[in-house]
Amino acid sequence: MAQFSNYPLIRVLAEYTRNPSERNALSYLCSREGGTAYLSQVRANQLCLLDLLLALPSCQPPLTRLMEQLPRLMPRPYSAASTMKKGHVDFVFNTVNFERENGRLFARRGVCTGWLEDLYSQTVSERPKIHVYGRSNQNFRYPEDLTSPVIMIGPGTGVAPFRGFLQWREEREVQKNDASLGPAWLFTGCRYQDADFLFSDDWKTWLESGILTRISSCFSRDDPQSSVKYVQHEIKRNFKDVLDFMESNSKATIFVCGDARNMAKDVQLALVDGLIVEKGIDKAGAESIMADWIMAKRYLQDIWT
Ligand SMILES: Cc1cc2nc3c(=O)[nH]c(=O)nc-3n(C[C@H](O)[C@H](O)[C@H](O)COP(=O)(O)OP(=O)(O)OC[C@H]3O[C@@H](n4cnc5c(N)ncnc54)[C@H](O)[C@@H]3O)c2cc1C
Repeated sequence: MAQFSNYPLIRVLAEYTRNPSERNALSYLCSREGGTAYLSQVRANQLCLLDLLLALPSCQPPLTRLMEQLPRLMPRPYSAASTMKKGHVDFVFNTVNFERENGRLFARRGVCTGWLEDLYSQTVSERPKIHVYGRSNQNFRYPEDLTSPVIMIGPGTGVAPFRGFLQWREEREVQKNDASLGPAWLFTGCRYQDADFLFSDDWKTWLESGILTRISSCFSRDDPQSSVKYVQHEIKRNFKDVLDFMESNSKATIFVCGDARNMAKDVQLALVDGLIVEKGIDKAGAESIMADWIMAKRYLQDIWT
């Protein structure tokens, strides 16, 4: 029912809609001329199958026909927020909420995160077994060379893999000031420091032990007057140090994890802007440095929409 309404699905719905004006509305949405209306009314508002069925009461497709149109439920990937040392893997998720607005006729949650959230109201023995499988990401790994400086940028649940990175550093049992462990700088953030700052105790412990050498955190809703709300603002504010970090060691690497739609783009823009200002070069020159970092695998992303 939460399946988003694509062209083939709307075409089938139109076939089984008795009321002519409702049928015409559906036919228009999946026609060539109706492309713009489809994008602005259905796609942009993320209307799902149930929204359309509720809005168009004369649309009554047979269940079998509907089932043919619905894809298999796909697995959702989640970043591991820990190493495997303790015999289990932690992960964190953000419940996706779709409010009742913009043509959506009922409020709903994301299919997987809504379900995961409900598991918390059950006792451990009531919870079903969840089938999970591991998938390693060869392009987003802690550097082989432990002396490499790392900058980790991960607001919200994007911070998950960096907790794993830092646990791994800790497991190497490299002591504070040990020359074999390069510096590790974390940029993270959330809305409210007191309500949703993930793993804050871990960061504190690791700062004290030297496993984490620096943290730059920001909280977008705590201070309405503050101009530093998101990680990209922190990056801009500290850009001179970021550049020193990257230029001090040819293996220094920036890792970015989290939202692809806004955050990842804004972080890249902040880095380009910083390069322009700090190095006194033009935009093309700054973008070329970014491209070099990407080519040399010194700028790595694990991002999702
Ligand atoms: C490599 C990777 C790592 C990830 N790691 C994490 C993590 O650590 N933590 C975390 O919280 N998430 C993570 N995600 C995201 C996660 O996999 C899920 O996508 C997310 O939790 C939402 O799943 P859901 O089933 O709750 O939402 P869904 O029901 O799948 O809805 C989510 C999105 O699907 C689209 N969508 C849904 N319905 C419609 C519609 N009707 N019309 C148009 N579009 C629609 C929208 O873009 C919506 O935002 C990761 C993703 C990737 C690819």
